Amino acid sequence: MKILFATSEVVPLIKTGGLADVSGALPAALRSIGVDVRVLVPGYSQVMAQLTQHKFEATFNDLPGFPAARLLSGLMPNKVPLYVLDCPTLYQREGGPYQDAAGQDWSDNAQRFGLLSKVAAMLGCSTSPIGWLPELVHCNDWQTGLTSAYLHFSPGAVPSIITIHNLAFQGIFPATMVQSLHLPGSCFNINGVEFHGNMSFLKAALFYADHITTVSPNYAIEIQKEALGFGLQGLLTTRRKDLTGILNGIDTVEWDPARDKHIAKRFSSKDMSGKAANKEALQSRFGLNLEANLPLLGVVSRFTEQKGLDLLLEIAPLLTELPVQIAMLGSGDAQMQKVARDLSHLYPGKIGIHIGFSEELSHLIEAGADMFVMPSRFEPCGLNQFYSQRYGTPPIVHATGGLADSVTDCTETTLKNGTASGFVFSGMTVGNLMGTIRRAVELYHDNEKWNALCKLCMSKDFSWETSAKAYRSVYLKVLEK
Ligand code: ADP
Repeated sequence: MKILFATSEVVPLIKTGGLADVSGALPAALRSIGVDVRVLVPGYSQVMAQLTQHKFEATFNDLPGFPAARLLSGLMPNKVPLYVLDCPTLYQREGGPYQDAAGQDWSDNAQRFGLLSKVAAMLGCSTSPIGWLPELVHCNDWQTGLTSAYLHFSPGAVPSIITIHNLAFQGIFPATMVQSLHLPGSCFNINGVEFHGNMSFLKAALFYADHITTVSPNYAIEIQKEALGFGLQGLLTTRRKDLTGILNGIDTVEWDPARDKHIAKRFSSKDMSGKAANKEALQSRFGLNLEANLPLLGVVSRFTEQKGLDLLLEIAPLLTELPVQIAMLGSGDAQMQKVARDLSHLYPGKIGIHIGFSEELSHLIEAGADMFVMPSRFEPCGLNQFYSQRYGTPPIVHATGGLADSVTDCTETTLKNGTASGFVFSGMTVGNLMGTIRRAVELYHDNEKWNALCKLCMSKDFSWETSAKAYRSVYLKVLEK
């Protein structure tokens, strides 16, 4: 089975969030069960700098509406075959994949991801300029959403599926882009790419793709309802027979406390003594008092409403009185960053903040914190709750999306029957979050029960194997159709 996996970010070449983790790990897991998956990613400066050995595959000099581009091929560090779409005019610039250094969306994003989608579709047609023809194109999020539309209007095209990693981001642009991106005018229609007078890359995929997947079974249900459907609940409900929720796995090599190169001391469920050294290292890095017995709460997150950090910031002063310490890594909303910074100045030694993106610190937080807080308002899947469990750092989560699918609340019963893996609250209020953190802190002071919980967390299997098999079944189903 040959699959082209089109994505706008992939670990370790370029990452802003969970999509990159999935794009890095899922293709490798699929290859290990016999699927020939190849990844297509834009040649951002960061990607080009890491592409040491490559072959030239094709040029795209006269695609109407797009600057000249080339397709290169190489290998990911994990040996997954890689296609890089090199178009310096669109991709090689200082800043992130979607935004400039000041956090503004690139003004030409429609063209940037229109080209990515267009080329993904060209590679999925019998007229492809390269020798390898996939049987299906697997698109991910809005950035590759137009692929399904381009494929739909191309003769000799293979089918496509779209995976929704976050329905909140839809790639909405003015209607005029339909013409600029050389899509047929007829697709600007409710049965097509139109979304309330604009065009939407994601809706294009939800309409034209042969199958839709999303990253947890619970989120697959939630997005069919108004509260989390972001206006697309109607279309998703119509397509529910073609909609499958598959829980993400994690890269168990990259995220392994027994092998982690980023942390102060390695440890395993058999010998967790290394956690203390990581806690001390984490406290030092975040300017926290070196207190071995105070519960330390870790946070790694984008600073947005979605992640519910506003609630955590609101109760942070009360939390210091429990008492607990807080180590927080992330960036995003300027106001939230300011509040977080102010708190670290008001509560020195108790609240430590790092604004920015740091792979190394994110590993250290998972290893050194006692518990991990993730009070997301909605969460398609989430990854840090998996990492936390694997590092013996019980997560405290809101019962939504993939968090509800992957964390089992710790009670007397679940602790005894071996299913407990963290703390879960329903109802997004400061009271519920506070009460749940308090419950976790109480258990922390019961050494025996806490150790039992940490060991249970570490015994869970989050490898990609099961999910990769589920994706293979979806591919087969589409191909059989
Ligand atoms: P989302 O994709 O919505 O941001 P996920 O939980 O699915 O959320 O994935 C986020 C990924 O990005 C995780 O691997 C997390 O550790 C990582 N991450 C988020 N913010 C940071 C940061 N500031 N520094 C390092 N890693 C981060």
